[in-house]
Amino acid sequence: MLRLPRLRYLRPRTVDEACEMAASNPGSMFIAGGTDLVPNLKRRQFDVSTLISLNALPKGSAVAGDAERGVEIRAGATLDELAAHPALDGPYRALAQACGLVSTPQVRMMGTLGGNLLVDPRCNYYNQTYSWRKAVGFCMKKDGQICLVARSSPRCWAVSSSDSAPVAIALNAQVTLHGVEGTRTIQAASLYKDDGIDYSTKRRDEVITTMHLPPAEGRVTSVYWKLRRRPSFDFPILGVAVALAWDGGIVREARGALGAVGSHPVDISAFLRPLKERRPDEDLIAQVAEAADKPSRPLDNTDLSHYWRKRMTKVYIERALREACGLPPLEGRLSAQVKAGAS
Ligand SMILES: Cc1cc2nc3c(=O)[nH]c(=O)nc-3n(C[C@H](O)[C@H](O)[C@H](O)COP(=O)(O)OP(=O)(O)OC[C@H]3O[C@@H](n4cnc5c(N)ncnc54)[C@H](O)[C@@H]3O)c2cc1C
Ligand code: SF4
Repeated sequence: MLRLPRLRYLRPRTVDEACEMAASNPGSMFIAGGTDLVPNLKRRQFDVSTLISLNALPKGSAVAGDAERGVEIRAGATLDELAAHPALDGPYRALAQACGLVSTPQVRMMGTLGGNLLVDPRCNYYNQTYSWRKAVGFCMKKDGQICLVARSSPRCWAVSSSDSAPVAIALNAQVTLHGVEGTRTIQAASLYKDDGIDYSTKRRDEVITTMHLPPAEGRVTSVYWKLRRRPSFDFPILGVAVALAWDGGIVREARGALGAVGSHPVDISAFLRPLKERRPDEDLIAQVAEAADKPSRPLDNTDLSHYWRKRMTKVYIERALREACGLPPLEGRLSAQVKAGAS
């Protein structure tokens, strides 16, 4: 059985106190649900002496607002609460879908939105026990010098594996961070860096307090599609989030992002631009999906073949766009493609 290292556990009662504790304890990390952090600590993926719990901070309501005014979500809200929350039906449905597709009911009951946004990027050579990693000589993300996936690479290519992160970008969300130097609100996309080790712009002492979803002007449809080996359990090996704003049957704005195809969630909104001012039909959606898979560059460091994951990107973009446009699924053709790729 893997055991946690010896740790000091602090339980601040206010956000200010949490930030000050983080600032004055260099070897500390925040812990919310602990569902990502605890297994990683057991595998010695971080050198941490102190955990600062966010669970005793004041709890307001999980979600406030509506589509007309915009919605504010407390970062400490659990994935389970958000998956079924009525305020996340309609325009923000992709976020509820993403939360509901994370792992198992047990993990969703404990795991929070804030923790989900900050899931440590994953890699087959890193999410292993200490003795496994030692046997292969470690890698630069922890304890080693080189990248075992791309040996001459100067950087780490661990994979952004959060389900909510691509959705936050597709929905044009913002996040508020509170630290010892004050509070700032940034675009969700600006929370991430394209680096498998130093993957977030969040400062050590900053707590994510809130996610803000902008008001939905007119009708908005949003969808999240997730690819993984075991649909009841696994992290994404591809996530596709799209959000379309409509004027009648015409697309006014199209946004989208991919998860699990790089070290950060990848904004594909520029590739969805041909949908704007159009009434998308099957052919247009297929063309757009074909082009929008370009920034998907999976490597051989997570589950299933990376060539197949690349091919599945356009399939999943097409599926997501069809659903967002209210077109019927292409199950026959698509499941044949999936089977061909998986064999
Ligand atoms: C078996 C299994 C399967 C999983 N499958 C998935 C999956 O399919 N998709 C997926 O996205 N995730 C998955 N996870 C990862 C994890 O369960 C979820 O991402 C969960 O939402 C993490 O939230 P948490 O509150 O438990 O985070 P924690 O583990 O407590 O923290 C995660 C990170 O976020 C930081 N953090 C947490 N909250 C805040 C905050 N408010 N402000 C600043 N920093 C903060 C912590 O310091 C830590 O670095 C899985 C985990 C397990 C064990
Ligand atoms: S991508 Fe390379 S450096 Fe990063 S965790 Fe994997 S093997 Fe290690």
